[in-house]
Amino acid sequence: MNEYEVVIVGGGINGCGLLRDLALNGVKTLMLEKGDYSSQTSNGSSKMLHGGIRYLENFDFGLVQEALEEKNLWLKLTPHLCFERDFYLPLYNYSKYRPFMLKAGLFLYDFLSHFQNRPHGMLSPQETIEKVPSLDERGLLGAGKYFDGVVDDAKLSLECLYDALLEPCASAFSYHEVITTQKNQKGYEVTYKNLKTQNITKVQTKFLVFTTGPFTDKLLPELGIPWSPQLALSKGIHLWLKKDAIKAQGSVVLTTRDNRVVFVIPQRDSILVGTTETPVDQDIFNIKATEKDITYLLMILNQYFPEAKLNEESIISTFAGVRPLVREERQDESLGKVSRFHKIFRPDKNTYVLLGGKYTTFRRMTQEIAQEIVPRLGYRYQPNLTMNPLRQKSIMPTFGDKPKLTLEMVKKIIQTERVSTFEDLIHRRLSIIERPDQLNDVMGLPLADVKSLF
Ligand SMILES: Cc1cc2nc3c(=O)[nH]c(=O)nc-3n(C[C@H](O)[C@H](O)[C@H](O)COP(=O)(O)OP(=O)(O)OC[C@H]3O[C@@H](n4cnc5c(N)ncnc54)[C@H](O)[C@@H]3O)c2cc1C
Repeated sequence: MNEYEVVIVGGGINGCGLLRDLALNGVKTLMLEKGDYSSQTSNGSSKMLHGGIRYLENFDFGLVQEALEEKNLWLKLTPHLCFERDFYLPLYNYSKYRPFMLKAGLFLYDFLSHFQNRPHGMLSPQETIEKVPSLDERGLLGAGKYFDGVVDDAKLSLECLYDALLEPCASAFSYHEVITTQKNQKGYEVTYKNLKTQNITKVQTKFLVFTTGPFTDKLLPELGIPWSPQLALSKGIHLWLKKDAIKAQGSVVLTTRDNRVVFVIPQRDSILVGTTETPVDQDIFNIKATEKDITYLLMILNQYFPEAKLNEESIISTFAGVRPLVREERQDESLGKVSRFHKIFRPDKNTYVLLGGKYTTFRRMTQEIAQEIVPRLGYRYQPNLTMNPLRQKSIMPTFGDKPKLTLEMVKKIIQTERVSTFEDLIHRRLSIIERPDQLNDVMGLPLADVKSLF
């Protein structure tokens, strides 16, 4: 039976980030993921690296500051994956905020970034319309302008994984589901199933870490781990709109009547719109946008962009994710107000469970676990190793001009980027937005030729 020092269950951003941290510190680690890497919540986010300007309202200053520091770090470390973009928050005569309140909030946002953000500004109504011509001019008072990061969420996780796997002490398998964990004298025996071959494997580990996000409350009791539910699950959906659907030079932040924000972010030759915040009433692993979710977002868009006359025809595709928010005492709060702080649980001496938080702060959250485990294994923890640039880039960039795809490139991607299925290739390695069932070809290559490689 193979022996490891740490087994990580779950290969989203938190699993990949932790694997990298442990691997760079020389810890023999195995990560097991039931689907493709980063195919769940970590591919269903709003794809922003941000402090979260709206969390200022909740007085979550610590979270905002930490997230801004991380955002600015990743903008430097991975300039091919993370980009700074200008965001415009329009104010109307019916808006909840007055211009002076917004100005104060934007100043605080820049202050909490230690003025590493590009500086904010306030725009007149005319300047606002120049930047976002599709906006409704009626009652427009102007807009606040600030800067945040956009990221290909799946790719950043994948590049963390590739970086980790350059260390001989790290291994990872996708489409491998953990089905039992058994405590013993040496730690834990972990049993997992290869979901393609149905083969069962057992390994021994000293430490067990769960980075299973929204799946945790269901999974841990099934594995016999003492656990009481900790999550307030919250579903969020997004739309990819056709690139001409809305005229906007930058990203737009829309405040809603139910006290939320909806982002409109031009990217990847398309426009990303999201998100919603509703309780979960579906199978989390196959979560989808419903008609009701889509209608809600279209309603908000049509309120702010009446001339655009957006409807189902404007939509290329949709996706959904589930936020693994940690439940709080204040049960009466709306989901939108549940804090984005994370928590680390220890249901057993050598078992760690990471919940909550944001994509943006994954490095800090996983570091808290690594800095505890590494010394307990007898090694010296080196905290700065994760601040080095990632060493293996994806072959196909997400943003900017893509090189012409050849079959040789696809073969190389499959060989070097841990692709198992056609869907992995389309959605997360090539970052194609169209639904695979609508594809006639794959970036100019015959569909049949690409499918024959699997
Ligand atoms: C709608 C929405 C918008 C968001 N927008 C942002 C944003 O713009 N910026 C930001 O910073 N954060 C954002 N977030 C938060 C962010 O996406 C999450 O915090 C983050 O992706 C959580 O990552 P994770 O690795 O914990 O979970 P996941 O990515 O869900 O990974 C958990 C993994 O565990 C695997 N798993 C489950 N059971 C097993 C098993 N038995 N064996 C093996 N593997 C298993 C699953 O397959 C899954 O891949 C958003 C979240 C949502 C839902």
